[in-house]
Amino acid sequence: MTFNCIEPTVVFQEVPDEISLCFSITGCKLACVGCHSTELWNERNGEALTNQRFKSWLAKYKNLISCVVFFGGEWNQAALIEKLIIAQASGLKTCLYSGLDTVDDQIIKHLDFYKTGRWDKSLGGLSSPTTNQRFIDNKTGNLLNHLFL
Ligand code: SF4
Repeated sequence: MTFNCIEPTVVFQEVPDEISLCFSITGCKLACVGCHSTELWNERNGEALTNQRFKSWLAKYKNLISCVVFFGGEWNQAALIEKLIIAQASGLKTCLYSGLDTVDDQIIKHLDFYKTGRWDKSLGGLSSPTTNQRFIDNKTGNLLNHLFL
């Protein structure tokens, strides 16, 4: 199973206290008003993130990252879970940024962290005290939004 992603980048703020390799998956159907990443709407954008290609990215960044974060991809549950299992087997933490309000239990059990909630300009993102979005530590169940303020 696979989906497409744009070229991954290393990010420092999306997961607190972690250095993360960020995979932005294309094919998002939520169409949030004011979306800053409309290139992610068309599932044909980017290149196929096969398991082999994913492993190659992890090998390239071995010892440089502590976590992988997926922006989307929950719409292809099997493909996402395969990648999360590979990442955890490589000793990495895992995080999902979802625009939905809930994440499926089958996915959650492979996550260390997850963000829920669509983009709403009037409420702001995780750095806004009025945000609708929630960043959860899945091991403790604690809300970590305060770390983004
Ligand atoms: S979930 Fe993210 S990528 Fe998808 S439309 Fe909303 S802001 Fe854009």
